[in-house]
Amino acid sequence: MDLPFAENYKIKMVEPIYRSTREEREKWIHQAHYNLFNLKSNQVFIDLLTDSGTGAMSDRQWGALMTGDESYAGSSSYFHLKEKVKSIFGFDYFLPVHQGRAAENVLFSVLVKEGQLVPGNSHFDTTKGHIEFRKAKAIDCTIDEAFDTNGMHPFKGNISIDKLTQVLEQHPREQIPMIIVTLTCNSSGGQPVSMKNLREIREVADHYQIPVIFDSARFAENAWFIQNREAGYQNKSICEIVTEMYQYADGMTMSSKKDGIVNIGGILAMRREDWYQQATVYNIMFEGFITYGGMAGRDMNALAIGLEEVTDGAYLENRIRQVHYLGNQLIELGIPVQKPLGGHAVFVDAKRFLQQVPKEEYIAQTLAIELYLEAGVRGVEVGTLLADRDPLTKANRYPQLEFLRLAIPRRTYTNNHMDVVAAGLKNIFDRRDQITRGFRIVEEAPIMRHFTVKLKRK
Ligand SMILES: *Cc1c(COP(=O)(O)O)cnc(C)c1O
Repeated sequence: MDLPFAENYKIKMVEPIYRSTREEREKWIHQAHYNLFNLKSNQVFIDLLTDSGTGAMSDRQWGALMTGDESYAGSSSYFHLKEKVKSIFGFDYFLPVHQGRAAENVLFSVLVKEGQLVPGNSHFDTTKGHIEFRKAKAIDCTIDEAFDTNGMHPFKGNISIDKLTQVLEQHPREQIPMIIVTLTCNSSGGQPVSMKNLREIREVADHYQIPVIFDSARFAENAWFIQNREAGYQNKSICEIVTEMYQYADGMTMSSKKDGIVNIGGILAMRREDWYQQATVYNIMFEGFITYGGMAGRDMNALAIGLEEVTDGAYLENRIRQVHYLGNQLIELGIPVQKPLGGHAVFVDAKRFLQQVPKEEYIAQTLAIELYLEAGVRGVEVGTLLADRDPLTKANRYPQLEFLRLAIPRRTYTNNHMDVVAAGLKNIFDRRDQITRGFRIVEEAPIMRHFTVKLKRK
């Protein structure tokens, strides 16, 4: 008999979670205006809202908190992190920031101007927000295969070289400040980008002399997929793969709340000194002095170790196996999910799950609320609410795909928790034909509305 797979860690500290009743959840979600972001965490049994900042640090990381150096200038924790950024990604210029969107804000303050276009692969919502905030436009050049949830393309995060070339061909160089490659591609399902694609993007970028920036929140998970799915990389280590990936980039933004395995923090790093000089001014105004940016010394110290741990093959094997443990259960139950399974989350295809709910009534949000009511599990809508309105016409943008995203925090839940999620979804799937109506918006913000939107049942 093959030995079953088991976590390669044991638990040293526990945090109790409350298993509520359906009646309690009915009341709470109503009070929260049917917006899962408005729930209190103790109203949630299993929280799969996000894998951002929700992971469990290792004992080494907790130890590193104690040896953090809180000096205002020249902190040893800064140099510890700077060395790791150099050795893992190869960038000489580095600024610590308080989280990923801060890295975007600081970098875009240097690079993005009104009226410009930023091509990429399904830009993350804060990335798009920061681009649109500067009156520029994000252009999605993801390959078409990404939008067929059943197709088995191994790298659905890839950028279509044809689409990218068209954008670069049709506009003057001054109008395109950069190409952004998101690793892995969150919005299209935690899907990876292949090394071949990164290489081709670099070639096109060189031809048109456009910089390439990697949005690096899940860079290590992306490297794991390259190792496991791309010919020629099976015998390379994760670190070797990451080194090659970043040869193709001019800079990076990173939310360390994901593959940094810490609860807060971010990285902005680059090859070019002139960008760094300009970014430094803005960073000092909005984040903090160069050697701490938006971070405490102890947090920089823990992040340096998190970057080491996340690039360990055994860690990644465990991490991604747990995501796939949940995903494969759903597939066996006949529940439609984005395939192949991605790195940090399982994306349930809400349009195929709830076929009767009209798109004007927020299909994926309807499924997210059903799952909360059924099992106390909080997922998140990646659909029309997130896609927001067109900045010019103000009309709802209906994306091709409506997902319920179940993001798995790193090293936080056990596979028993995954079983509860699967059972909850199965119960809803069995009665899916009775779910015919969704929600309408009663209040929304002008930008990034999904965080604060208020809804009513239709
Ligand atoms: C989370 C994330 C961001 C933003 O990072 P924050 O730390 O949440 O500000 C940007 N891009 C991607 C791909 C992300 O997943």
